[in-house]
Amino acid sequence: MAEITPPVRVRFAPSPTGYLHIGGVRTALFNWLFAQHYGGQFILRIEDTDEKRYVSGAADDLVASLRWVGIAWNEGPDVGGPYKPYVQSQRNELGIYRAYVDQLLVNGHAYMSFTTEEELEQMRAEASAKGIKAFRFRGPERDWSIKQMQELAAQGKPYTVRLKTPLEGTTSFSDLIRGGEQITVSNDQLQDIVLLKSSGMPVYHLAHLVDDHLMNITHVIRGEEWVPSTPYHVLLYRFFDWSAPVFAHVPTILRQDGRGKLSKRKDDVGANRFWERGYLPEAMFNYLALQGWSYDDHTEIMTRTEIVERFTIDRVQPSPARWNPEKLKDMNGIYIRKLSTQELVKQMAPFLTEAGLLSDSPTQAELAYVERLTPLIHERLEELSNAPELLEFFFSDLGGQHDVPLRYDPKLIIQKKMDVAATQHALSAAHARLSALESWNESLIEETLRALAAELELKPGQLFGSIRVAITGRTVAPPLFETLAALGHELSLARIANAVAALH
Ligand code: GLU
Repeated sequence: MAEITPPVRVRFAPSPTGYLHIGGVRTALFNWLFAQHYGGQFILRIEDTDEKRYVSGAADDLVASLRWVGIAWNEGPDVGGPYKPYVQSQRNELGIYRAYVDQLLVNGHAYMSFTTEEELEQMRAEASAKGIKAFRFRGPERDWSIKQMQELAAQGKPYTVRLKTPLEGTTSFSDLIRGGEQITVSNDQLQDIVLLKSSGMPVYHLAHLVDDHLMNITHVIRGEEWVPSTPYHVLLYRFFDWSAPVFAHVPTILRQDGRGKLSKRKDDVGANRFWERGYLPEAMFNYLALQGWSYDDHTEIMTRTEIVERFTIDRVQPSPARWNPEKLKDMNGIYIRKLSTQELVKQMAPFLTEAGLLSDSPTQAELAYVERLTPLIHERLEELSNAPELLEFFFSDLGGQHDVPLRYDPKLIIQKKMDVAATQHALSAAHARLSALESWNESLIEETLRALAAELELKPGQLFGSIRVAITGRTVAPPLFETLAALGHELSLARIANAVAALH
């Protein structure tokens, strides 16, 4: 394992082509953790040179997604820094990339290519007709003089600039995640990739590399999908006579069934989707850290500080990670359970407001009511967005402006081995006993109802099941006696009376 010598400077360089995929957040997180661990700098750079795939608003969304999980940058588009601007389209307007393209042209490491898209298509078709599987383009202009190319360009003929890859020899690089293993490709397997498009926009291969160099990036930690492109980058570093950064390609995240990569299109994995569903950033942070990295073979729940302290690249595995939404949900449940009641109320409030159970700016009384209810669901809540559904029945028939009438199928009230008459009788008796109670608390309610069940020679489950449906409208609900206590004397009795009536 190569020694990592500070100061380290790493970057996350997303392309704003849509919402930020959770896999992208993981890559950003690994960079951030690496920087934190070694006391280095983490830079955010927006790589928006692909005009065709550009999605407006995507850059803001990805900034918000990163901030949500708690990733902050030392330099970036919004915070500035010594190497600004940190947005490639703005850098392009300053002529930064063109200058380096010209340097390659002058030194004979790149050439202007006048082959049109149509001609290229035709060449590809011909190659495939001949049974050539991988078509590797190398343009006739490779051997032209710069003067020849410039003359044609001056006549207004559109061109791209392509890298002049060597025809012989090999290109190698080592990867920190693969234990410093050397990856070598034969140069005849490469082709003359485009560096500058005919629109004058640089492509990723050139732009990111110029920026990484100018921004003094020491370690390039990025997705494994870039491994096949790395030989081109190594060649470019050589042609510019710059020293290359250390590469570390983080493993792909596979879909849950292991079939293929987690995909923006097929899987619901936009970072924004998780905060909409009420994932806590701490849970997401912890879960994502474990997508490809581990501390040992069993420790899973770790604080941010612990993860920062423990995060070393040698514990990032090269084999793919696997997305497991169930595990993420469990982890979220664990983090929700760590919250105090008050903290949870605060986290749930926007979801309750959204569902119309609380006002837009909840009153003290409303919040106090939610605080009273929270312990009933705290243990089993795994996604904050489920809170309204779990608590909804507490807000029915309150006569307030957010009223949602309690509706259910009366058939649900009747329990196993019971009929309408027996159920009505049992509920009426429960109503009478509960009405007579002088104080309204959980243990008194429990005592009363247990005694009643025995008296009526019912199994506790038969009586409790009917009461549960009567007061919650559902067969699965938070613990019964606590629910009755929280709902209050008046509302509980009214609902039991309604249930008796509904059975008629
Ligand atoms: N803009 C590239 C992407 O979005 C960055 C890859 C890299 O980190 O070098 O995948």
